[in-house]
Amino acid sequence: MRRAHYRVGPITQAECMRCGACCQNPPQNRAEGFLTYIEVSPRDAILKQPALVRRFVVAGEDGAPHLRLDADGRCLALRGRIGGHVKCSIYAERPTACRRVQPDSAECRRARAAFAMDPPEEDAEAG
Ligand code: SF4
Ligand code: SF4
Repeated sequence: MRRAHYRVGPITQAECMRCGACCQNPPQNRAEGFLTYIEVSPRDAILKQPALVRRFVVAGEDGAPHLRLDADGRCLALRGRIGGHVKCSIYAERPTACRRVQPDSAECRRARAAFAMDPPEEDAEAG
């Protein structure tokens, strides 16, 4: 019998350039009414750059600054296609919350699962 299993190998930094899953509010969050996603800390460098603030920052429902998202919940600073080739256009100024998500962390794996980035594979050992 064959059984499905999920990827168990480590997810490396290199994978981020063809992922971007953690840069979009997952569909389930949005379905539950959570429309803001990544909070910007008061000490984050982006808040000292008015042009970047105008373009990429918005006040959340609680009034705190958050990254501005498009209609699909995707950070406006993300370039490329999620799951294809992606790039953060404000990488040097990205907020602390973005820096905290490490490849292969629980947050990373949750984000990737939300976008089916690691689909089930057949178990190679099963017959
Ligand atoms: S979800 Fe993980 S692999 Fe994807 S961009 Fe974020 S940290 Fe990188
Ligand atoms: S600022 Fe950059 S790293 Fe952070 S969510 Fe947006 S695209 Fe992703």
